[in-house]
Amino acid sequence: MHPGPPSSPGSRDICAQDAIYLDYQASTPLDPEVFAAMEAWFLSGFGNPHSAEHAYGWRAARATEEARASIAALIHAEPEDIVFTSGATESNNCVILGAAQRAADRDTILVSAIEHSSIFAPARHLASRGFRVLEIPIDSTGQVRCDDLEELLSTRVLLVSVGAVNNEIGSIQDLQRVGECCHEVGALLHTDAAQALAACELPLGRLPVDFASLSSHKAYGPKGVGALYIAPGNSQHLEPLLHGGGQENGLRAGTLPTPLCVGFGAACEKLMHIGKQERVAVRQLRDFLCERLLRGLPDAQLNVSTSLGHPGNLNFRLNGIDARDLIQALQPVVACSTGSACHSGTEEPSHVLRAIGLPLESARASLRISIGRFTQKSELERAAKYIIDAALTLRSLAA
Ligand code: PMP
Repeated sequence: MHPGPPSSPGSRDICAQDAIYLDYQASTPLDPEVFAAMEAWFLSGFGNPHSAEHAYGWRAARATEEARASIAALIHAEPEDIVFTSGATESNNCVILGAAQRAADRDTILVSAIEHSSIFAPARHLASRGFRVLEIPIDSTGQVRCDDLEELLSTRVLLVSVGAVNNEIGSIQDLQRVGECCHEVGALLHTDAAQALAACELPLGRLPVDFASLSSHKAYGPKGVGALYIAPGNSQHLEPLLHGGGQENGLRAGTLPTPLCVGFGAACEKLMHIGKQERVAVRQLRDFLCERLLRGLPDAQLNVSTSLGHPGNLNFRLNGIDARDLIQALQPVVACSTGSACHSGTEEPSHVLRAIGLPLESARASLRISIGRFTQKSELERAAKYIIDAALTLRSLAA
């Protein structure tokens, strides 16, 4: 499809020549076109975008505002609905903590059982301060069911947080229905959409969503920048986390990182043009890999159906194998994961797989593969062979 970036994924200087990157949900490679758009802003474009008195500042400000407009256009929103942040972690914290601080007569937050740690951690913090935090169960396909949600909803609920696209199993939520349920009782809906920009259409401006968290490095942009989408009229519900120079309409103080904002904008601009075709091509590649793996390992089982979710996600289990051993055996050639990068290195098996009903042993035997823009079919042919060989070797050692 696209020629691979000359020095990525993960830079061929740093990774082995023949390395195959299958961990796009941890971070996508920076698109070289995005990097080209950013480059000058590191050097001659160093002016502070908040310097209102000279041309260095004006130029940088224009660049950040153009980027804001590109991000807004991709999600069918207005530029004034976008607040730049350092990434989805910050955006998630802004909403969970910021909304609780402004809560008047509501004391409950609902979060789905398959959220990222950057939702659970601030929610736990609130629980330790006496807030009521309840978990919304997930069905075996990775969906929030509206009847489960409705059972938990009441006029005590301030905020509901349901991720748009899951980072481990790729399930995509029906935000229209979830939002309608929330609004019926006057609860606000937040969605962690960190994984969504590369995975699906996300017309936030047309959905009953009050807040959304976005991340640039899951969409072929640079790390260290993201955004918080705030639907019109909703900023009054958030107490800012950062106070200082009043930037971002007083919602998020701090100097904007011009090159990163420009990169995020360029990444969104590109997705707006090629996102749809890209998702079709990525889905075909993912299905090719899936078919190869299932042919070589007939007892492998998909943890969720691939038909409706993230086009580049594959999450499957190889019973009797510890996925961590398999991934280690694949190093340094094939990069894939057991789940969230923010959770890797911990002993606990995935809470997402447990929430969809997998027993502990099946969760431990599960592997997440995620592919995207620069993945080549030839790489997948090689990767499938490596994975099948490594799995068969591990099985024969265990026998
Ligand atoms: N939410 C989800 C669903 C994610 O996958 C990630 C990245 N692992 C984050 C939040 C955190 O995003 P960021 O790296 O931009 O802080």
